[in-house]
Amino acid sequence: MRRLLVLGATGSIGRSTLDVAARHADKLIVHTLTAFRDADALFELCKRHRPVRAVLVDEAAASRLREAIEAEGLACEVLAGAQALVDVADDADCDLVMSAIVGAAGLLPTLAAVRRGKQVLIANKEPLVMAGALLMREAAASGACILPIDSEHNAIFQCLPPAYRCGDAPKGVRRLLLTASGGPFREWTREQIAAATPQQAVKHPNWSMGQKISVDSATLMNKGLELIEASVLYQMRDEQLDVVVHPESVIHSLVEYVDGSMLAQLGQPDMRVPIAHALAWPERWESGVGGLDLASLARFRFEPPDLERFPCLGLARAALRAGGNAPNLLNAANEVAVEAYLCGRIDFYNLSSMIEACLEAGMRFHAQAAADLESILAIDTWARRWCSDRLAAA
Ligand code: NAD
Ligand code: MG
Repeated sequence: MRRLLVLGATGSIGRSTLDVAARHADKLIVHTLTAFRDADALFELCKRHRPVRAVLVDEAAASRLREAIEAEGLACEVLAGAQALVDVADDADCDLVMSAIVGAAGLLPTLAAVRRGKQVLIANKEPLVMAGALLMREAAASGACILPIDSEHNAIFQCLPPAYRCGDAPKGVRRLLLTASGGPFREWTREQIAAATPQQAVKHPNWSMGQKISVDSATLMNKGLELIEASVLYQMRDEQLDVVVHPESVIHSLVEYVDGSMLAQLGQPDMRVPIAHALAWPERWESGVGGLDLASLARFRFEPPDLERFPCLGLARAALRAGGNAPNLLNAANEVAVEAYLCGRIDFYNLSSMIEACLEAGMRFHAQAAADLESILAIDTWARRWCSDRLAAA
């Protein structure tokens, strides 16, 4: 029996993970669940999945959860605070960790699980963008097994030889091709996009996801973060990574080998597929998702991404090329910008202009290698403050 910790259990990925885990109670114990502050949602999950432990970052919410759990008579210990996330990720009790917090907040617990040499399923892409080299170095030192959950990276992993492990450069590969749905504004003009509201931005045509990644999908920053994520997981250079828009979201990505073979993974756009793949790996388990009816899909479309209407993808590419701490700056600025956009403080194209300006202002950090945790966190803080000051001045 493997014991599972779900970081970010109340989120879109967290819930899909629990859906798959519940189908395999003979092989998996849902051991620990964590969330930010939604005590009601976590309480419901505790009733259904009976974890041994639950963590809420917010102290007051944790007290409410503790009371509800006692009243219900559940045998579940409740912990509170951000440090408790790191403690449970570090705890030897769980050997399997789903990293599904959104944003940089997931870095410390993910790093703790990696340092412990666990099997770490990474959906939370932002830590890989801000501290990819550090995470992969720590994984190599501890023997942690990293499995990608992001559908594109999971697809690529599935198209590589069975002996392949993340953090190595795969042999005989010419190029990785990430597919992108194009997001909700794929067919909108620049003028229409400029006026897009947050409500329109979070309405994704093919996937149902958390708010932050939904905005990232609308700006195509999500694909930009994924380029950097792919460079970290698969040790590929910028020139070996490409993006193609594929509106059906059925082909989840491709690996092109040096002999011209292109291998792809296909499936319904349902995150339970990559989640089940990684939970079961190297076996295969039922995910609750069926296959595809290819005849009724009829045809697949492909088009190049439009960097004119979606400048965030170009900015991410530039940060990948610059290397060092540029991806860290990009990620921090994007998190601040997305939050400001969701609150209605800035317009759609202010997202990219703020990120671009922050990358320029922090130019001196680009060349500096993202070596240790302390400097990574300091640069993340610097970029957030820079963006907040700019917002306050506007
Ligand atoms: P979500 O917003 O639905 O859920 C986020 C989870 O993280 C919640 O459980 C929330 O309580 C917790 N959380 C939020 N802020 C926190 C904080 N400061 N400290 C601790 N916990 C916190 O997000 P999601 O859509 O499930 O995405 C999670 C991650 O997975 C993101 O990094 C996203 O990019 C990635 N991802 C998601 C999908 C998808 O289909 N949803 C696909 C690929 C990758
Ligand atoms: Mg993805």
